[in-house]
Amino acid sequence: MPFPTRRLLLVSTPVGPLGSGLGGGVELTLLNLYKGLTAQGHHITVLAPEGSHLGDVPIVEIAGQLQPTAHTQGRDTPIVLPSNSVLGQMWCHARQHQDQYDLIVNLAYDWLPFYLTEFFATPVAHFVTMGSLSDAMDAAIHRVAHRFPHRLGAYTRTQAETFGVADAFEILSSAVDLDLYQFCPTPGNALAWLGRISPEKGLEDALEAATIAQAPLKILGKLEDADYWQQLCQRFPSAVDSYLGFLPTHELQQVLRQCRALVMTPRWVEAFGNVAIEALACGVPVIAYQRGGPTEIVQPGKTGWLVAPDHVPGLVDAIANIDSLDRHACRHQAETDYSLSALTTRFECWFETIITAQSA
Ligand code: UDP
Repeated sequence: MPFPTRRLLLVSTPVGPLGSGLGGGVELTLLNLYKGLTAQGHHITVLAPEGSHLGDVPIVEIAGQLQPTAHTQGRDTPIVLPSNSVLGQMWCHARQHQDQYDLIVNLAYDWLPFYLTEFFATPVAHFVTMGSLSDAMDAAIHRVAHRFPHRLGAYTRTQAETFGVADAFEILSSAVDLDLYQFCPTPGNALAWLGRISPEKGLEDALEAATIAQAPLKILGKLEDADYWQQLCQRFPSAVDSYLGFLPTHELQQVLRQCRALVMTPRWVEAFGNVAIEALACGVPVIAYQRGGPTEIVQPGKTGWLVAPDHVPGLVDAIANIDSLDRHACRHQAETDYSLSALTTRFECWFETIITAQSA
């Protein structure tokens, strides 16, 4: 049965404009949600920092100072709100216009929207996009979990478990717009590494494994931490030529689909890893540390290999065994598990539970 048409406000991350790459996988997730929900007839408004661009999505842009990213702060860092905070301005806008919406969906991993939940008349749902990183955020999430059942969503169970209240989360996974990714049956010799270039992504391990395996590595992604990148380039001079920049999806998949495997080396509990399902959509197997989201995505021996965390020789072994995997099985997994329509239905179900509970 189709869901009633809803008016939804999607509030983006305040760490960067959409399209900048600073938001990481949230940017793709938000785009996919917009596409899927509008295709179902819902009326979607996206609120995001000034300078945002996301395909042809109309965006209400909000000016103000960007928020520091949570993963660059310590566990016990107090809440930070810069003066003229874009986060504050976005939620001020949401409050002023709340009666135009059936539901407000927060995609920011920031304390303020969680704190504000109880002060809104329109229900606020929170799609949490990272694992536990700070005590203050954990406390804010716990408060919502206890006071507002069903309001929390996460990508994966593994991610939700980091907060100690996993059962309070709706597990919603992610999706790819399959039409944008072309299957490639005959890859070259190179491996791919995709993501924000930032210490929690562990690029040095992929560089080391590729060096030992004597395979070229193609690095794509937002250069987030320049000092870290300089250190990597000194340690692995080949990194300079391996880095192809932060590419839009159609260019990203042109490079990715010709690679033998995607290598994922997270040092943190990866919430999901949109890059994993983008690889699968191209028929590219995924070699990943057994840590966080990839453990729920990769089917070892079928669509990739899971490797003991932080164990470079394990990556090298997996690279040696990559050609035994059937690339058709990878594309097939993307089609069956990560379609836009399935993602949309999961979110619609979650939204209906919240909206119905609110009006009961
Ligand atoms: N990405 C991109 N261009 C690039 C490299 C990566 O657009 O050159 C995007 C990729 O499509 C993915 C995101 O960067 O959506 C990384 O998200 P992921 O969920 O893997 O990790 P996060 O940054 O959220 O931790």
